[in-house]
Amino acid sequence: MQELHDKIREFGTVLPGDVLKVDAFLNHQVDPELMLHIGEEFAKLFKDEGVTKVWTVESSGIAPAVMTGLAMHVPVIFARKHKSLTLNDNMYVADVYSYTKKTNNRISISRKYVDKNDKVLLIDDFLANGQAVEGMMEIADQAGVEVAGAGIVIEKSFQPGGKELRDRGIRVESLAKIKSLSENGIEFEED
Ligand code: 5GP
Repeated sequence: MQELHDKIREFGTVLPGDVLKVDAFLNHQVDPELMLHIGEEFAKLFKDEGVTKVWTVESSGIAPAVMTGLAMHVPVIFARKHKSLTLNDNMYVADVYSYTKKTNNRISISRKYVDKNDKVLLIDDFLANGQAVEGMMEIADQAGVEVAGAGIVIEKSFQPGGKELRDRGIRVESLAKIKSLSENGIEFEED
């Protein structure tokens, strides 16, 4: 997605540990027009999948996920993150190791907003090792709902998450795929 590539080139900065900082338009300040276009793009890519809900994880996935839900006319659920959460009958929970924070989070989705006939589209801002998507898939599994695939704003394809998910037959669509990150620059797959 050219508009996204241009934003990453203009505003993205590389931090130690292969972290791309995109606070200028996605992770702190949010560019609503770009988010709208991202949502429309995911809606187009997954239009034939019978998606009934969009799922994401708070907080950085919320902006692209809401725009996707808007474009697809379906509700959006963001899994809540907790440092610790005792198991609770009203919640589906999964443990997710955070790539950027190097800590474990328990994510949860209320049973109240899950229907057994749901087909969910998983949206996230980044794909690195795939933990966040795996956590949502684990919840989908517990709930017995189908997963249509994963829509990722920025995939760091030099990290293993994307390959692992695709190898298992999960449809993963990433709007920007980064081949390498270094102080000298950001290289995209399509370059
Ligand atoms: P994964 O679970 O795939 O290992 O990592 C994805 C999650 O970690 C995303 O939800 C995102 O919040 C965070 N993340 C991973 N890599 C980056 C990165 O390079 N930059 C930022 N800002 N967040 C990242």
